[in-house]
Amino acid sequence: MNNIFDLIIIGGGSTGAGIARDMAMRGAKVLLLERNYLASGATGACQALVHSGCRYVTQDIETAKECFKENMIIRKIAKSCVEETGGLFVTVKGDDESYVDLFLEANEKAKIPVTLINKDEGLKIEPNLSNNIEKVVKVPDAAIDPFKLVIENIKAALELGAKIYTHTEVLDLIVEKGKVCGVVAFDKRQKEKKSLRARLIINASGAWGSKIAKMAGYDLPLSYSKGSILITNSRLTNVVVNRLRPPSDGDIIVPSETVTLLGTTSVTVKQLDNLQITYTEVETIINEIAKMVPAVRNARFLRAYTGVRPLFKEKKATDDRNISRGFRIFDHKNGMISIIGGKMITYRLMAEKVSDLACKILGIKQECKTHVLPLPSTLKGMKLKAKDRISLLSDKNKSILCECELITKDEVEEVLSKTKTKDLNDIRIETRMGMGTCQGTFCAHHALGLMAKMDIVNEKNGNKSLIDFLERRWRGILPVIDGDQIKEEQLTEGIYAEIFNLDKERIE
Ligand SMILES: Cc1cc2nc3c(=O)[nH]c(=O)nc-3n(C[C@H](O)[C@H](O)[C@H](O)COP(=O)(O)OP(=O)(O)OC[C@H]3O[C@@H](n4cnc5c(N)ncnc54)[C@H](O)[C@@H]3O)c2cc1C
Repeated sequence: MNNIFDLIIIGGGSTGAGIARDMAMRGAKVLLLERNYLASGATGACQALVHSGCRYVTQDIETAKECFKENMIIRKIAKSCVEETGGLFVTVKGDDESYVDLFLEANEKAKIPVTLINKDEGLKIEPNLSNNIEKVVKVPDAAIDPFKLVIENIKAALELGAKIYTHTEVLDLIVEKGKVCGVVAFDKRQKEKKSLRARLIINASGAWGSKIAKMAGYDLPLSYSKGSILITNSRLTNVVVNRLRPPSDGDIIVPSETVTLLGTTSVTVKQLDNLQITYTEVETIINEIAKMVPAVRNARFLRAYTGVRPLFKEKKATDDRNISRGFRIFDHKNGMISIIGGKMITYRLMAEKVSDLACKILGIKQECKTHVLPLPSTLKGMKLKAKDRISLLSDKNKSILCECELITKDEVEEVLSKTKTKDLNDIRIETRMGMGTCQGTFCAHHALGLMAKMDIVNEKNGNKSLIDFLERRWRGILPVIDGDQIKEEQLTEGIYAEIFNLDKERIE
C-alpha cells in the first residue's frame, strides 16, 4: 500500500501543533491526530505564562536560557497571542534573603536582563503588591493565550495542506517487520476505526507519551506532576508577579486579559484520568498568593483547572520539582520519534529540533523558518487585547455574541460554516466564547440559536450540546464555588434549568 502521509503527529497540544506547522512549511504531507479537542492536554491547562526563564535559572540554567530565547521569538511571531505585561519577582517578610543574590548572579550568567528595583518602584508598577514585600526584581515575563497559540499553528498548517483530525484517538501502532508504519485510530464522532499510514510517526502526546511508546515496545519512564490553577473574575495585577524563592506552590500570578490565573501546585500522581483539584491545593494557592497580593482574599473565583506535566524520570532527581523542565527527543530508530517535556513557550524550539530530525529521516532538505515567519493572525495584524477589541462594542455593524470575551457573531458564524460542528466546545476552543467571567451563561444559548438557524442542530440534538457545554464549565466551577459566585451559578441554573428545562431533559 502507498504511504499517504510523510508524517503522522500524535497529539494536538502546543508541541504537536508546532510540529505540524513547521513540517508543513518544509513541504511534508502532514496528518495530526488529537483524541479530544485541540489543546485539551497540558497546553490548555497551563498558566499561560511566557516565562522569562528566571523561575528555573538557579536550578536549570539551560532551560532558563531556552525560555528567554524563545520568549523573545514568541513576542515577534505570535504577537496576537501575547500580552507584553512584564513581570516582577518579589520576596516577602520571612523569605530567605540569600536566595536573591543567587538569583541575580544566575540571571547574569544566563544573560537574562533583570533589574533589582526598590520597593516603591515595585509598588508603582504593581500597586496591588503587599506592603510586606521586601526585594523586587523586574523581569521580562509576559502572558499568552495558549488556545490561540495552538489554533494559530494549526490554521497555518491547514493552509499549507496539512490534515488535522480531532476527536481521533490512536489506539495502536501498525508495526511491520519491526518498523512503525502507521496507526490504528478511532474517530469518536463518526464512530469508526481507521488505519492510517505514514513514513514517520511523531509521538507528541505529552503525558500520554509512554503509553504510545509502549505500543511499539519502548519504555519512556515518565513522572507525572499535577498542577492546579485558579481563575479570578477580575484582573488583580497589571504584570506577572512571581515569588522570589526556589520554585514552590502558589508562586505565580498571571494577568490574562480581564481575569487572573493563580498557580500552581506540583503533586506527583500515578494516573492521568479523572484528575481532582483538592481543597488543600485551592487553600495553599490562595494563602501563598495573598502574601504577595492580599487583594486575592476578596477575589471572586470563577473556576479552577488542572493538568499534568510529563517529566522524564531522571535517576538522580529526588522530587518532581528537581526534574528538568527541558525537553527530550527520542529517535526510536524504527519509524517513530517521541518528544517529551519542555514548556509551552519552548514549543517552537521543540518543534524545530524534532522537525530537523524528521527531515533528516525523510530526506527533506528545507530549513526551519518558524523563528522568522509570524503566525497567520499576526500577519493580518489582528489584536487580542480587550482594550483593543473594546471598540467592537460601539461598532453598530458588529454584533457581539460573547460579551465577556468580546466574540462577535461573525466569528462564531465563521467557525460554524467551516466546521459544521454541533459541539459548543469546538466554538469555545476556536474563539474563547464562554471562557470569560459569565462562563457561558449569556452566550451559550445564543451560539446554539445560531447553530439552529444554520440547520446544524435541531430540536432533538441541540440541547445535548448545551448540556455538555454547561457540564464541562461546571466541573471547573465546583472546586472554587463560594460567596457571591454561588449567586451567579444560581442565575445560570435558573436560566438553563427553568427556562430551557435542561435538568428535566437530562433526567429523561
Ligand atoms: C499546571 C501547569 C502549568 C503550566 N504552566 C505553564 C506556563 O505558564 N508556561 C509554559 O510555558 N508552560 C507551562 N506548563 C507546561 C506546558 O503546559 C507543557 O509543557 C506543554 O503544554 C506541553 O505541550 P504538549 O503538546 O507536549 O502536551 P499536551 O498539551 O498534553 O498535548 C498532548 C496531546 O496529546 C493528546 N493525546 C494523548 N494520547 C493520544 C492518543 N492516543 N491519540 C491522539 N491524541 C492523544 C492529548 O489529548 C493532548 O491534547 C504548565 C503545565 C502544567 C501542567
